[in-house]
Amino acid sequence: MLLGILKETAPGETRVALLPESLKGLLAQGITVVVESGAGSAAGASDEAYAAAGASVTGDRPSILGEADLVPVVNAPSASDQALLKSGAVVIGFLRPLDAPSNLATAIALHVTLFSMELVPRISRAQSMDALSSMATVAGYKAVINAAAVLPRLFPMLMTAAGTIPPARAFVIGAGVAGLQAIATARRLGAVVEAYDVRAAAGEQVRSLGAKFLDVDLGGINTEGGGGYAAELTEEALDRGRDLITKTAAHSDIIITTAQVPGRPAPRLIRREAVKAMRPGSVLVDLAAPGGGNCEVTIPGLTQTVAGVTLMAPLNLPAECPVDASALYARNVLKFLELIAKKGELSIDLGDEVLAGACVAHKGSAVNPRVAKLLEAAPAPSQM
Ligand code: NAD
Repeated sequence: MLLGILKETAPGETRVALLPESLKGLLAQGITVVVESGAGSAAGASDEAYAAAGASVTGDRPSILGEADLVPVVNAPSASDQALLKSGAVVIGFLRPLDAPSNLATAIALHVTLFSMELVPRISRAQSMDALSSMATVAGYKAVINAAAVLPRLFPMLMTAAGTIPPARAFVIGAGVAGLQAIATARRLGAVVEAYDVRAAAGEQVRSLGAKFLDVDLGGINTEGGGGYAAELTEEALDRGRDLITKTAAHSDIIITTAQVPGRPAPRLIRREAVKAMRPGSVLVDLAAPGGGNCEVTIPGLTQTVAGVTLMAPLNLPAECPVDASALYARNVLKFLELIAKKGELSIDLGDEVLAGACVAHKGSAVNPRVAKLLEAAPAPSQM
């Protein structure tokens, strides 16, 4: 069995799906590993390191695509790359099956099996494969670091002979995986941190990190959507959150916002007036930008200055920490591979709930019912 590691081609992507240190167990099973030259260079993994770990390195990308049985990736291959894959090959990665399903049509038609890391069920057994959490952790950390780099103030309280500098005040909206990491990072840098989330369960986690949890009376409605996620709220409940956010923004030096509801556009929680209420020089990082953003002024992918406030809307912060992001991602992918590559043979049991949950398509048909429905509704790629 041949496993191919490709150089990612998405603009700004620096991560790689597997690192040289990932290869030992695969090679021990008798899997042959071929790496595209330069695949790991931005993540600190040279061609020489892959070769020393036992892989062969080639500049011939089409031959990797055409011959590999297993193709772990970070992002979905382009349609022209998909067209070179062989029938029965398995692609595993962040394939965006729910927001860009028609981009996978070529591979599905060629009977390539597609597993999406976004769809790995969040159950205890699959925690070690939870790449969404791994990347959210990196993004939460990096959001605070990037905000600190442009904030014209210090984070910690400093008592000096020249007087006292008060600590910076950070406000984190959405205390899920990314938000909790942002809280922990801002606390480590010495900021005073407040946080808001619609899930009451998040309160205890926020407090355990030394931050203040801001409660809003949402009128007793259900805010939990199952699986630890938030439910989509009514406009009235969203408005109560928006009022709290506007009030808190006025005394916050940085806001890191991460609120998401699975399968829905990011909730618009931060009004223009909340941004205007912040002091000039303050920083807002909208980590929900890939889903459209939590702030009504956000332009995904762009950094703007709005009423003197720096508003960042990054689309791929993990790519700004490629070494550790790749290391975490590679471990998630390796754990997933253990489910489908046994003793050097491919064995796909869709009776396994992790595989069934993550499987986008197998043998030419969409397996995931949500993806199947979206593909039925989507125009074929030639019509787009
Ligand atoms: P997410 O990215 O979907 O959302 C981020 C946060 O935004 C969530 O905490 C959510 O409650 C919050 N949010 C949504 N709408 C909001 C609104 N209107 N106002 C304020 N906040 C809002 O979630 P996530 O970070 O991927 O995960 C959320 C939770 O899922 C975790 O805290 C955890 O409990 C659970 N989880 C479980 C596992 C597991 O069991 N393996 C793994 C990861 C996460």
